[in-house]
Amino acid sequence: MNSLIKRIKYFFNAIFGQQLKKRKMINLILFGPPGSGKGTQAEMLVEKYNLLHISTGDLFRYEIGNKTPLGVEAKSYMDKGELVPDSVTIRMLENKVNANSEVGGFIFDGFPRTIKQSEALDAFLKEKGTSVTGLLSLKVDDDELVSRLLERGKTSGRKDDSNEEIIRNRIAVYNNETAPVYNYYNEQGLSAYINGVGTKDEIFASLSEAIDCYS
Ligand code: AMP
Repeated sequence: MNSLIKRIKYFFNAIFGQQLKKRKMINLILFGPPGSGKGTQAEMLVEKYNLLHISTGDLFRYEIGNKTPLGVEAKSYMDKGELVPDSVTIRMLENKVNANSEVGGFIFDGFPRTIKQSEALDAFLKEKGTSVTGLLSLKVDDDELVSRLLERGKTSGRKDDSNEEIIRNRIAVYNNETAPVYNYYNEQGLSAYINGVGTKDEIFASLSEAIDCYS
């Protein structure tokens, strides 16, 4: 009788254990200062890993484009290179995730940017029976960031990309308020640095290698 139960358990594990493994979500935080290449790499990664790319900056810009109350509020912070308040940002992020619950996972780009946002994300994902898989931080030095952003500003039409003072403020905000998020996830053993200088394909290969270690 015991061996029959064992065999049934083995059978269930073999079939359903595999299915659970297959369904495990990848929830990646693509991290790094403004201009480190998160958006470019996220676009390449979503295709390879079939994930949904959520950029809170893009979501705010969409709201600004539609002149919604949220957009008007966000713009007043974004134009100065400051962070939009946590409560507003967290609510917007949760709505976007809830509207896309059928996907195999997410690439969070530009979120979380504070410890409060990180705690909110962890609690939110836990409620959904999932968690952050890892945080990969693109490392690029400040002068390179400034020149990349000024270059992008020539065509992006973004006010926060076209003024060196605002760009330097964004980098300072990153160092003061956002960089601690790396350690927050590092304490959970989830953070790693990736060299953010090189060709798009080289950086993509490094990110892919790190992501493949999660599965
Ligand atoms: P990004 O497109 O990620 O460079 O973000 C552009 C701007 O949007 C930032 O400088 C902030 O003003 C705002 N923003 C984007 N994501 C967040 C966030 N997670 N928390 C607060 N503000 C954000």
